[in-house]
Formats: sequence, C-alpha cells, structure tokens
Amino acid sequence: MIEPEIPLSAPDITDADIEAVASVLRTPRLSLGPKLAEFESAMAAYVGVPHAVGVSSGTAGLHLALLALGLGPGDEVIVPSFTFIAVANAVRYVGAHPVFAEIDSETLNLDSAAVEACITPRTRAVIIVHTFGRPADMPALLDLAGRYNLVIVEDACEAIGAEIDGRRVGSFGDVGVFAFYPNKQITTGEGGMVVTRHPEVARRVAALRNHGRYESESAVSGPTPELADSWFEHAELGFNYRLSEMQCALGLGQLVRIYSILARREAIARRYCDLLCAVPDVVLPVTDIPGQRLSWFVFVVRLGMGFSQADRDGVMRKLAEHGVWAGRYFAPIHLQPAYSAWRGATHLPITESVAVRTLALPFFNRITDNQIERVCAALQCALHAKRQSV
Ligand SMILES: *Cc1c(COP(=O)(O)O)cnc(C)c1O
Repeated sequence: MIEPEIPLSAPDITDADIEAVASVLRTPRLSLGPKLAEFESAMAAYVGVPHAVGVSSGTAGLHLALLALGLGPGDEVIVPSFTFIAVANAVRYVGAHPVFAEIDSETLNLDSAAVEACITPRTRAVIIVHTFGRPADMPALLDLAGRYNLVIVEDACEAIGAEIDGRRVGSFGDVGVFAFYPNKQITTGEGGMVVTRHPEVARRVAALRNHGRYESESAVSGPTPELADSWFEHAELGFNYRLSEMQCALGLGQLVRIYSILARREAIARRYCDLLCAVPDVVLPVTDIPGQRLSWFVFVVRLGMGFSQADRDGVMRKLAEHGVWAGRYFAPIHLQPAYSAWRGATHLPITESVAVRTLALPFFNRITDNQIERVCAALQCALHAKRQSV
C-alpha cells in the first residue's frame, strides 16, 4: 500500500481567512487601504514596538531596513552564513559588504565572540537571525553593539512570538523584520513587516516601499491614495514593495490566531522530541534554555557526527520512499555559487559541519499524530538501512 505523502510544510488557512480576503475583493480598495493600517498596528502591538510597516516580503523588509538605517557602500555588515540567503543578499542590495560569522553549535545562532572577532573599523551593523525560531543571545550581542557602536537588525522572519524573558523578538534591535511566506508560522502568501522604535526609520521605510513617497501630515488627502497631494512627489529613489489589502486581511486573520498556532506547533515539536529522544544518531534541538520561549518554525534534527552529506541525503531519499518529505536547512550562504567571491576568505567549520547533517522533518499546524508517528518510523527505518550499509 502506498501511503499518502506528508509534506514538509503546509499553510493553515481557515474559512474565516478565505472570507476575510474575499471581503476585501468586494471593496474598491485593494492596496494602501484600511487593512494595511490595521495589520501594521496589530503587528506593532503584538511585537511590543511603536511602529510597523508592511512590505511585500521579508527580503524587501531587510533591504529597506538597511537603506533606512543608512547602510551603503564601504560598510561591512556581519551576518550568519547558516541561514536563508536573503540575509546576505539584502546587504549586497545596498552596496555594503556581508561578513560571515560563526554560529554556536548548540543553538545554531550567531556566536557573540565570533561576531566580535569579525569587527573591523568598517563594521557598521549586525543582522541577527533567530534561527528556526530560537531567540539569539540578544544580551551579549546588544552589549557588543553598544561597545562598538553598531546598528542591530533583528531578522525575526523565522521567529514571530519567540521571547527572551517575556519580551518578544523583533523589539530588541534598531529594526526587526518579519516574513509571511507560506512556510512561516503565519502567512500572507508573500509578505513582510518592518518594526522599529525609531519613528524616522518607520517613516523612511514606508516611503521607500511606495516609490519614495512621503506621507505629509498636513496635505489634503483624497478618498484614494492616488488622489493624495504626495502621490506624484518622489523624494528619493524608492521601490514598489507594497503589501496588498488582500494580503493584509489574510495576515490579520492569521495573527488573531497566533497564540493557538504557536501552542499547536509547540505540541507538535514536543511529540517529535518524545518519539525521537531515544533514537541513536538523532540529535534533537535543545528546548530548555532558561528565559527563552521558542516559536517553532521548522523541526530540524541533526544526524550523528558519523554522517556525511551523502549519508544525510541518502536518509532523505529513504524518507521520500516512505512518502515523507524532509528538507535541508540550511545550505551555508558562503558556499553558494552566488558567493564564490566570499568563499576563500570565509572559515566557518561549525557552520559547514552542522549544515551537512541537518534534516528538517514535516512540520505544519495540521499535521496529525498519526503522520508524526509515520515520520518517526520512517526516519528510524532510514537510519537502520544506513547502519546496515556500513
Ligand atoms: C523567510 C526568511 C526571510 C524572508 O523571506 P521572504 O521569502 O523574502 O519573505 C528572511 N530571512 C530569513 C532568515 C528567513 O527564514
């Protein structure tokens, strides 16, 4: 019998979400309308910051965050390599130079001592990623930022709702960035949000996402954005990185359910840990760091030190034979062809050794207990096959 396939991730869209999007489509305002303002305020309140600006993706958010903070050619920005490529790409979009720092082998987040070792007189900023939804070591990194006068961008794209001592990620840095691609904890299809406590940064991001148009407080604004006085005033080179009203309606529908979504994801992660804790050669994510609340983005296990990249890929193929789709999170950025110019100068043994042994297991709100058990059984079967083959 061929069992139905278990996807790596799947969005969780309710009938209420569908109705919320459909209601927007029955109005004439499909962009820059009330849903955008509502989604922005809801995100700002949730994260605990005064300003939030909706953008078309997490990548667009990182790009505009760096521009609004004044980063550009000649500046170095320290980033992890064990993450999604958008982090380093955004640095290159503004003409600055990404410098890759090593991660901690347990948390998979930036190691603050390694970051300090990367600092040069040109270093202006650090992009701190909360990898897989685990809060980074913000106290140490903020201390570093204070001592070296660095700007901090928090990439919270994988970590909405994660907390350090009760404070939500995205609220620690100068700017925080969230993303709503379909595999994230909440989705708008495509989308992102820039949050900040600096009003001038929020204002500039809002202008840059809309062709460099600044909203003036005093000007007469019309019933639609196109009739506002400022519609044909472009103060600086901007972009079209807007988030549509349909996307904002979906985001709002998802955000009101964030507490139950995160609780469900935590329960799934616990179930995986219970079923896999005694399985040899499977290293589980650490879950008991005091003061930290994880927001589960993906469930990534690591295979034992004896596993090569080819072994890991073999395990993935075996899982696929059982209808179980696993992912490789992440392929280090500095090893990508698009970063060949960085390769020689970058020495990251932990990143490279971890990345070849990671395996992301199917993880989504609606995964059933039965599916979780099937994934774990298939993984044990695949590991057994590998042991037999040596
Ligand atoms: C998802 C993600 C982003 C943004 O991705 P988009 O597809 O542009 O929304 C940025 N950084 C990290 C670490 C991510 O995981």
